[in-house]
Amino acid sequence: MKTQNYLLAVAVIVGFAACAPRKTDVHLTNNVLKNATLKDQDVHTYMCKSPAQAVCVDVTSVMGDKIKKEGLTSAIAELRKKYPTLPQNFDGTDSALDQLSAELNKTKVKNDLLLLADKAYRTIYDYDKDVIEATELARKLLISEVEQSKLSDENKKTYIGALNTTVVMPITEVFENEYLGKETVSVLVASACTGSGQKEFTYSNLPNGGPNGVIFMCPGTLLRGAGKAKEERIQRLVFLLAHELTHQMQFKGLASDDAYACQQNTLPNKSAEYFKSRQQEANADIWATRVLMRQLKSVTDAKVKMQKVVQSLNWLCTIQDSDDSEKAYYFTNKTRIENVFKLKETEEQIACGGSAPRC
Ligand SMILES: [Zn+2]
Repeated sequence: MKTQNYLLAVAVIVGFAACAPRKTDVHLTNNVLKNATLKDQDVHTYMCKSPAQAVCVDVTSVMGDKIKKEGLTSAIAELRKKYPTLPQNFDGTDSALDQLSAELNKTKVKNDLLLLADKAYRTIYDYDKDVIEATELARKLLISEVEQSKLSDENKKTYIGALNTTVVMPITEVFENEYLGKETVSVLVASACTGSGQKEFTYSNLPNGGPNGVIFMCPGTLLRGAGKAKEERIQRLVFLLAHELTHQMQFKGLASDDAYACQQNTLPNKSAEYFKSRQQEANADIWATRVLMRQLKSVTDAKVKMQKVVQSLNWLCTIQDSDDSEKAYYFTNKTRIENVFKLKETEEQIACGGSAPRC
């Protein structure tokens, strides 16, 4: 999906078909990644051989699902105090919102529900704090990546300026703060996250054409980290945020580099149009991969490195898979994960070896 100058990262969750491993593979991967007695080399072999299956090892979030259920119930109870005429069976879904009687302002009810739901979820898991920390990490790493790239000094200055002025805006601020482009962003957020906020969606945009970028993440995306250790919760957001921040550089003119041309050569014959429509999203993944691998340079334990790769890319297993048509903006989720392993930066950290091209 792409509207105006906006690019999105994450779409609806409709199941795990995107890269659901076969049952035997799930068990194998689980054993490989969790069994401490296995040698690092075994984990390594599996990840290099079947990256998508190794990354999609565990896509459930028991705690996240529990918070969604409890939070939404309490948000609807609060909403009812404000709108006593809400039907008894109102469950907060978009279809329930659509069916509200004409005397209620549906947009207002939806926005109020989203705010209340977000607040209820955060009383159990305060994800906004994690987002701030992960954003600063992703931003710092991406700026280092830009500084050390082959881009011209002028471009570096422009892109770093864009990175420094982009905010990842919490849901509360989207609706309660005053800022340029508020109307556009509020409509986008309510539509993307839905009234319950449970849809998994992240979006990078440049309201009113700029100057400042805004990124938002729906509660559904953030609740996936609930119940995990803090280090893992942050890790789960770094690649995604680096991807979204790269879109901000693209808004300022960042073009494809050689890595994308190289990746295209690794894929089966497709038309120029096929690759062109995927260019921006694929390049956002490329920069996000560089950010992740830059981060992994300071990790010495090979097994921890691999765990961090799994945590960083795991969200790709849960979103609706892109179709393979000419005009789609994304490669399939499996290909997106495999593409991460084709970059030379990944090879430096994970060292799969073999004769595969390194981009
Ligand atoms: Zn994107």
